[in-house]
Amino acid sequence: MHAVKDEIIEFTEQLIRIPTVNPPGDCYKECVAFLKKKCDELGLETTVDTCDGLPSIIGGDGKGVLHFHGHYDVVGGNKSQFTPVVREGKLYGRGSSDMKGGLAAMLYAISEVQHPNISFSITPDEETGGLHGFACLLDKGLISPKAVIMPEVSSNTIWNACRGALAVELAIKGRSAHSVFPQQGSNAFEAMVDTAETFREIDPGRGTVLLGGSVRGGTQFNMVPESCSFSVDWRFPSSQSLDDIRNSICSLIDTMRKKGVTIESETLLESEGFLTPEDAEICTWVADAVKEVKGSVQFAECPGFLDIRHCAHRGIPAVAYGPGLLEVAHGPDEYVMVSDIVDAFSTYCLVGKRAVQQI
Ligand SMILES: [Zn+2]
Repeated sequence: MHAVKDEIIEFTEQLIRIPTVNPPGDCYKECVAFLKKKCDELGLETTVDTCDGLPSIIGGDGKGVLHFHGHYDVVGGNKSQFTPVVREGKLYGRGSSDMKGGLAAMLYAISEVQHPNISFSITPDEETGGLHGFACLLDKGLISPKAVIMPEVSSNTIWNACRGALAVELAIKGRSAHSVFPQQGSNAFEAMVDTAETFREIDPGRGTVLLGGSVRGGTQFNMVPESCSFSVDWRFPSSQSLDDIRNSICSLIDTMRKKGVTIESETLLESEGFLTPEDAEICTWVADAVKEVKGSVQFAECPGFLDIRHCAHRGIPAVAYGPGLLEVAHGPDEYVMVSDIVDAFSTYCLVGKRAVQQI
C-alpha cells in the first residue's frame, strides 16, 4: 500500500506540472499523451478520440456496469501553482483538488480492479461547460455506460444531485434627453432599478438569484440614459425544472412590460439540474464504500455544475465523489489532503469490486 500511495501522489504532482489551463485550453495534447502513457504502464487499454478538435481518452469500451469519468483541464492560476508542493500533509497546486488528485486515484483503482465491465473517460472542456468533452463523447455514442462515478472534488460528500441554472441579461430601453429636460426622455436606469426590485422578490426557497453580476448603461451624468441592462443568474434546486424557472422570469418581465417598461431578454446560460435517487444502485455502491473508508457518509446537492449532468440528463445515473474541498478548488491556495487522495483510491477500489460483483 505504501508504494502505491507514493506513486499516486507522484502521478498527481506530474499532472499538476502540465498547465492544462482552460480557457484557453493549453497543453491538452501533452497531457493526453502523458495520461495515455500512464494508462499503458498501469495495464489499461485506452483509445484517444477527438471531439470538436479536443482530445479525450476512453478506457475500455466506454460501456459496462460502471464508468469512471474525469476531466484534465483546470482553471487559470499563478505560475507558482503549477509547481506542486507538499506541506503538512497537503498537496498544493492548481488542479490538486479539481481534479488531478481524483484522476490519479481513479486510474490506480481501475488498474487494481481491472475488469472489462469497468470503463472510463478523461476529457477536457469541463471548466467551460463540457459540451466539447464529456457531452460530445455521449452524443457520438463513443461511451454509453450504465452508471457513472466522477472523482470530482466534492468536499467529503457524495453529490447525487446538482442545481440547475438559468442566466439572462435584461436590456431596458428608454429615450435620451438633456438632463435639464428629463421629462422629455425616458429614464432606462430608473426602469432598470424598478425591474431589479421586482426580481428581488423571488422566493429564496427557489434557489439563489444573483442580480447585477454584469451591469451596463448610461453614457454621461448630464444625459437621461437611453439604455441599461443587468444580468440575472438564477441557480435552482433539482426539484424544480428549467421550464418552471423560465416561466417565472417571463412572468416577471410581463409584469414590467404592463407597467410600460420596454424590456428585452437574452439567455446567457441554461442548464437543467439533476437528481440520482439515494436508493439507485450507484449511490448504494459509493455510499457503502465511503462509509467503510471514512466511517460516515452524506449525500448533498452540488451548488455548482457537474460534468456528469450530461449523462444524468440522458438518463444515466451518476454521482460525484472525489478528494478535495470545493471551497479551495479554484482559489490561489488550492490544495488536497494527501490522505484524502489515498482514501479516494481505496474507495474507488471498493466501488469497482462491488460493481463487478453484480454481474
Ligand atoms: Zn472539476
